Amino acid sequence: MNSKTKVWDERRNFMKKAGTATLAVPAVWYLGKSRMAHAEDLPKLTEDDATAVALKYVHDASQAKDRKDPTSDCANCLHYTGADGVEFGPCAIFPGKSVSAKGWCNVWAKKA
Ligand code: SF4
Repeated sequence: MNSKTKVWDERRNFMKKAGTATLAVPAVWYLGKSRMAHAEDLPKLTEDDATAVALKYVHDASQAKDRKDPTSDCANCLHYTGADGVEFGPCAIFPGKSVSAKGWCNVWAKKA
């Protein structure tokens, strides 16, 4: 391989990597944005949902009869993945639904 061929190979490799990065950055941004939009669009869990009833979920943690820690609510629960400041967010225990940040259920576990 002569030096001209080597230079062209290096340029070609650089262009391939640059092209891949150019496509990857918007794709990652789009996927992240669509996932955030999806979380906001989740239907709200209702208190009369069968699983919610079984786990004693309430939208207002202060109304939870079994709550021992008065500071516990969904916003500070290990299973909650809603963004700070939003009223409702996803919970791993209720997939496909959003729960109130001020809610509570008997699976509550303190977020680390
Ligand atoms: Fe709220 Fe946690 Fe119960 Fe989910 S598991 S509903 S975040 S208290």
